[in-house]
Amino acid sequence: MPEGPEIRRAADNLEAAIQGKPLTSVWFAFPALQPFQAGLIGQHVVRVQTCGKALLTHFSGGLVLYSHNQLYGVWRVVKAGAEPKTTRILRVRLESADKAILLYSASEIAILTAEQVAQHPFLTRIGPDVLDNTLTAADVKQRLLNPRFRRRQLDALLLDQSFLAGLGNYLRVEILWETGLAPHHKPQALSDEQCEALSQALLAIPRLSYQTRGRAQENIHHGALFRFRVFHRTGEPCERCGHLIEKTTRTSRPFYWCPGCQK
Ligand SMILES: [Zn+2]
Repeated sequence: MPEGPEIRRAADNLEAAIQGKPLTSVWFAFPALQPFQAGLIGQHVVRVQTCGKALLTHFSGGLVLYSHNQLYGVWRVVKAGAEPKTTRILRVRLESADKAILLYSASEIAILTAEQVAQHPFLTRIGPDVLDNTLTAADVKQRLLNPRFRRRQLDALLLDQSFLAGLGNYLRVEILWETGLAPHHKPQALSDEQCEALSQALLAIPRLSYQTRGRAQENIHHGALFRFRVFHRTGEPCERCGHLIEKTTRTSRPFYWCPGCQK
C-alpha cells in the first residue's frame, strides 16, 4: 500500500501532466458527477493536494475533485486522446490539449465546494500531513504530548492518520529504528530528548523518502539517500549495533526492528 511519499510523488506526476492547462474534455463515470463536466471545460487544475491517502484536485473555478484510492484506485497519465488497454474500470478522465489524467477503479470520488471540503468527514478526521513543509518538529512534539495522543503506544500511534497523515508501515518501522525506540513506548513516558528526536524523525524520514527514494546516488547532489534499515531486512545485522533484525506483528501489521538497540 502506498504511503505519503509515494502518494505525493503520484500527485506530482499528475500536476506535471496537467497543472495550469485549460481542460478540453472532462468525463466522470458516476452519474452524480456528470452535471459538473461541461462547467469544468476551459478551467484548469490549480494543484493536486494530498491529504493522507486522499487526493484533492483543485480546479480554477473553485470546485475540488475528492478521490480516495483505497486499495484499488490508480491514476495514469497518458497522451491526449489515448485510451490505454486495461481491465480496470475508468472513473475519471481530465484532458488538456496534450495530456490526460485518468483515474481507475477508485470508488470514493466526489466534487466538493471549498465549504464541503472543510466539513468532509474523512478530511476533518485526519491530522496534518508530514510532507506539508509548513509543519515543524515543534508542532509534531506538541501533538505527541497532546492528551489525545500521549497515552497511545507508538506502534499504533504512528499508523493513526488522525495523529499525522502520510505515515504507513515502512515509515513507522524506519522512524522507530532511527530514534532507537522500541514500539511499546507511549509519548508521555519518553524523555524530552527522545521526544525531540522522535518529532524530528517523524518529519525528516518521510521527507527524505519523498525526495530520494528510488533515485540513484549520482542524482542526489547533497545529503543522504533514503534506505531501508529494518523494513524487509529480517535476519540481517543491524547497521548500528550488529544484532539481527527481527520481524514480528504489531497492530496486525508486519513489524521490523532491532531488539539490540531499540530500547
Ligand atoms: Zn541495532
